[in-house]
Amino acid sequence: MPVIREPRKSRGLIRSLNRSGVRDDKSPNVVRKAKTPPDPSICERCGAVYQRKTWRSDRKVTDELSAKADWVVCPACEQVSRQEGQGRLVLLGTGVAANKETIRRRIENVARRATVTQPERRIISVDELGARGEEGLEVLTTSQKLAHRIVRELVKLFDGSARYSWQDDGTLYAEWRYDTARIKAHKRG
Ligand SMILES: [Zn+2]
Repeated sequence: MPVIREPRKSRGLIRSLNRSGVRDDKSPNVVRKAKTPPDPSICERCGAVYQRKTWRSDRKVTDELSAKADWVVCPACEQVSRQEGQGRLVLLGTGVAANKETIRRRIENVARRATVTQPERRIISVDELGARGEEGLEVLTTSQKLAHRIVRELVKLFDGSARYSWQDDGTLYAEWRYDTARIKAHKRG
């Protein structure tokens, strides 16, 4: 899979936009900003537990733990409430339109698996591109890795072509194009 980095010129442009504040609402990097919570802590929104320096959603909240833990909002819940994505996927092509339900289910599966061990990795939204011209889907995730993983799984299932571009603000922009006219048989997944 080709990895395409943004050309220097456009990175400079993004940086200057950040400085002038135009993109301020989109630029904060959650990883850089997140402060370390007291150990242990429990997220009051999703029940994820922060212990031994990591957030996990599969840790049991016992009476003993909840008695000594602080109640905080975990980075993922904070990010979801601000609607910021660290991963932005755009899925395009006739094959996407024709397989939307299968694609949505696959995305949900990948996300569900990721969330068990890494609650901070999740999907913020899956929306139709619709109004913005081409038919397709836009997926926002709280994590670059999850975004990357979803694209990899879609390529495994259908082929198509993927391209990735890492932005200066810490987000990964990925585009997956799948046209049924050009790629006839799709693999069984
Ligand atoms: Zn949470």
